[in-house]
Amino acid sequence: MIQLKHVSLEYPVTRTLALDDVSLHVQKGEFVYLVGHSGAGKSSFMNLVIKRTLPTRGTVHVSGEPLLNYRGRRTAVLRRRIGMVFQDNLLLPHLNAYENVAFALRVTGVPQREWAGRVTAALRTVGMEHKKYALPVQLSQGEQQRVAIARAVVGDPPLLLADEPTGNLDPENSRDVIKVLQHVNLRGTTVLVATHARDLVESFRHRTLTLRRGRLVRDDPYGGYAL
Ligand code: ADP
Ligand code: ADP
Repeated sequence: MIQLKHVSLEYPVTRTLALDDVSLHVQKGEFVYLVGHSGAGKSSFMNLVIKRTLPTRGTVHVSGEPLLNYRGRRTAVLRRRIGMVFQDNLLLPHLNAYENVAFALRVTGVPQREWAGRVTAALRTVGMEHKKYALPVQLSQGEQQRVAIARAVVGDPPLLLADEPTGNLDPENSRDVIKVLQHVNLRGTTVLVATHARDLVESFRHRTLTLRRGRLVRDDPYGGYAL
């Protein structure tokens, strides 16, 4: 699903080496944590996968294709295959939960007759079907994040990237979000979670990649937080 071969990323001007000779392979269907201190390169890694940045050296493959194949209009094709979840859920405040999820289908051109079924299924996956008419302000942070996950997966992307998805949540809501991501994973989506949350990485064990100053220093198949 994601393959990096000797990837380095040096930002121009500051010459920061955000990724330093990283090689790794994330298989289809895996659930993987990406851990590391602030500045270790986690966001840079995610930005490479969605082609927001290009590597300075090395090659990146997504879904078996080199990233360089996704040129021009095909960049949109690549991004449509990748769901994204952030620390801030970025729901549209004037739309209810249902409409926020449906919005993702509208912008990608899915025919309207398919919306109801797909939105309902996505909200059910994250356990929010009963709150579909609620506006974001009427939902807790954790519930909002679950709606954001529904929005990210409603298009059935093969890959979901989550960047600090529990960063604004209390421990209980954080655990719920990880459980929802695990559920999404069991339905067939490859999931990559960048996180600082040591307790979550320790209690919900999955393969864990550790970055330190841009280098991949650990790749533990059974997880655990080792910073
Ligand atoms: P993390 O997500 O693990 O906090 P980042 O990938 O955001 O790490 O950052 C890795 C390094 O690259 C840091 O030193 C950061 O300051 C630097 N960096 C990130 N984005 C940019 C950018 N657009 N231009 C220059 N330097 C950047
Ligand atoms: P986060 O990944 O923590 O949500 P960002 O990706 O915005 O936040 O930034 C991560 C790190 O990269 C921060 O330390 C920030 O200062 C640095 N950074 C982001 N953009 C730039 C940039 N254009 N130039 C230099 N450093 C940057």
